[in-house]
Formats: sequence, C-alpha cells, structure tokens
Amino acid sequence: MPKNSLQLDFHDAFGPHRIIRVFEPKLDLYGALVVDNVAAGPSIGGLRMAEDVTMEECFRLARAMTLKNAAAGLPHGGGKSVLAGDPRMPAAQKEERIRAFACALASEEGYIFGPDMGTDEQCMAWVRDEIGRAVGLPREIGGIPLDELGATGFGLMHSIEAALPFVGLSLDGARIAVQGFGSVGMHAARFLAEKGAILVAASDSGGTIENSGGLDVAALIAHKRAGGSVGTFAGGRASNRDAVIAIECDIWIPAARPDVVTIDNVDQLQARIVAQGANIPLTEAAEMQLHKRGVLCLPDFIANAGGVICAAMEYRGVGETAAFTEIANRIARNTDEMLSRGKADGKAPRQAALDMATARLRAAMSTRRWSIF
Ligand code: NAD
Repeated sequence: MPKNSLQLDFHDAFGPHRIIRVFEPKLDLYGALVVDNVAAGPSIGGLRMAEDVTMEECFRLARAMTLKNAAAGLPHGGGKSVLAGDPRMPAAQKEERIRAFACALASEEGYIFGPDMGTDEQCMAWVRDEIGRAVGLPREIGGIPLDELGATGFGLMHSIEAALPFVGLSLDGARIAVQGFGSVGMHAARFLAEKGAILVAASDSGGTIENSGGLDVAALIAHKRAGGSVGTFAGGRASNRDAVIAIECDIWIPAARPDVVTIDNVDQLQARIVAQGANIPLTEAAEMQLHKRGVLCLPDFIANAGGVICAAMEYRGVGETAAFTEIANRIARNTDEMLSRGKADGKAPRQAALDMATARLRAAMSTRRWSIF
C-alpha cells in the first residue's frame, strides 16, 4: 500500500498499535501513551515523568518493553507512558497530575502502569486508586517493592552468572565496576559481592570512587542512602564521573543513563563482560565494536528484565519469594539460550536475543484474529 499521512515512519510488523496524546488545559498537562503490541496480553510499561521527555523516547521505550516482555516469556505486550513535568514538584501537585493522567487513560485496558524514571510506588498507588491497573505498588496494597528488594539487580546477577561459562570466568574474585550506583547498580553490586565478586569502582552523577583492593559494598550503600555521593565515600580514591568507563575490571555494569558508551569512548572499556542494567546504555555501533573485540555484552532487555518479571508476578498476586525464584529461573534460562544460539549461529548476543524475542512475539501474534491487538 502506498504511504499515507497516518502512517508513521517506524510502523512495522510489530506496532505501534495505539498512540494516545493527553492534554488537560486546567492543569496544563501534557502526556502520551504508546501501546506497542498486545498480542501476548495487556502491555506493561513504566510511566516516565521528566521535563524533557519526548514522544520519540516513548515510542522507543514502548518497543523495548514489547521485546523485553516477549523475551522474558511473559503474557504481556509492551507499552510506555510519559508525562511532562519536573518529578520533584510539590507532592500534592504531582499527585493531582498523575491522578488526572491515569483518569485520562482509564479506558485503555491494554496498558498496565508501572513505575519508571520520575515515578515510584506512591505514584502507582494513586494510579491504582483511580483506575485499578498498576504494578510496582506499595507493600501495604499487595505490591512487591522491587527497588527496595533489588529485583533488577538480582536478575542482573543471574544473567552474569549464566554468562560466566561462556567466557571462562568465576564470580569468586571477579572484579566489577558499576556506573550509576542507584537502585539497580547498588543491588547488583550487593548480590554479586555476596557471591565473592569484588567491587573495584562505582560512580554516580557526582563522581567515581575506585579501590583496586575492593570497596566495602555495604558501607557504600549506607553512604548513598544517607544522601552522599559515591565521590565523597572515604573508602577509595575519588575521580570524575566518567572515569568509571576506563576502569580495568572483569565485569562492567552500566546502570545509569542511555547512550553513555558510544563509538567515541568504547575503546576505553577494559572488561570481559558488559552487563546492561540500564536501558540502551551503549549505542548499537559501540556494542558491535565490543562484540568484535570479544567482549561479551549482555543486552538490556535480557539482563535487566528482573523488574518487569517481578511486576508481572505482582499483577498475578504471587508473593516475593516466588517472584524472585521466577526472576532467577527466567533470566538464567534466557541468558543461556541467547548465548548458546549466538555461539551456534555466529551472532552477537543482542541479535540472538532479538531472534528469540521476535519468535515468541510472532507465535503470540499467530494466535490472534488481528495480529498485534
Ligand atoms: P536510580 O535513579 O535509582 O539510579 C541511577 C543512578 O545513576 C543515580 O545514582 C545517578 O546519580 C546515577 N547517574 C545518572 N547519570 C549518571 C552518569 N552519567 N554517570 C554515572 N552515574 C549517573 O535509577 P535506577 O532505577 O537504578 O535505574 C537506572 C537505569 O536502569 C535506568 O536507565 C533505568 O531505566 C534502568 N532500569 C531500571 C530498572 C529498575 O528496576 N529500577 C529496571 C530496568 C531498567
């Protein structure tokens, strides 16, 4: 069919299925929802609140959720919502805006809200109170506090553990460096340290701290929780924020922002494994460069799926312990399958993971009257 004016440049066989833009003049509220694909079930994806959030970000993240949920074998499609505004605005104002946005999307049953940058379990409680469809809730109303428990860091540890035989490494004594010592990064460091790994460097937006003899993970977490930056931690040598990229280590964990490693700085990385805690932390070209150098990259949508697996379990009313068992099993199995396929077919891990995810998605789509909804 010839291109028409309603067709987006990025429409493809998987979506996006629905695009909804929300405007409420009374609050000067601007938001949007992209439901990418619901062939496997209602989409789950976070609500991102930021002053500079874009539609393009929303489309990219919705697709990323389709792939992540399919790769994890969850009966959920992918979606994402965005709300313009400073997430640190006064609580009453934030509550009013999030409640209004949830009401605007009340009839969108193909989308289940989750927390993301700028939103948390309290925000999800407001959404649930308005429309009943939210995950990542406070414990008091049936939630599994995934950031407090470290669901994504836990999954990352299991992805790394499953990858070790492919590079001949052991966790005992493995040197790790974490970029972005926040919720994902600090829990990944904690779980890996429990298995004998040594944290040699960590960073946050305020700087990097390094100690080749090993940082005290529990003390560093306490320092962060008390409001400090890792750069002011007493147990190591402080340097600038991006120094963490060049740290010599076995396992490098980006857990901060997208696109932090590009073709311009990828040569600085000195690790055997790059385990992606953040979403799209490496550009495609940088990741391919590492693959050619023999560095094993565990792609975001396989390695950091712990949070969404936990959320999907919460939605089914599964308890914490069983949810964590699901995270461990699914992520270990998927990492092994991805790396085994990649090895057999001579493909980079991301391509092998994409093949796995799209095969699951196509299988779900083939069961439907309409393919993506
Ligand atoms: P967070 O806000 O708790 O932590 C992020 C940390 O990164 C902070 O300590 C911040 O200071 C630091 N940081 C920001 N920019 C940095 C930079 N340029 N260099 C070094 N450090 C920097 O966020 P989070 O929940 O840990 O999420 C981190 C990333 O992981 C995000 O990309 C998020 O989308 C992704 N992610 C999170 C989850 C989850 O369960 N929380 C799940 C999947 C993916």
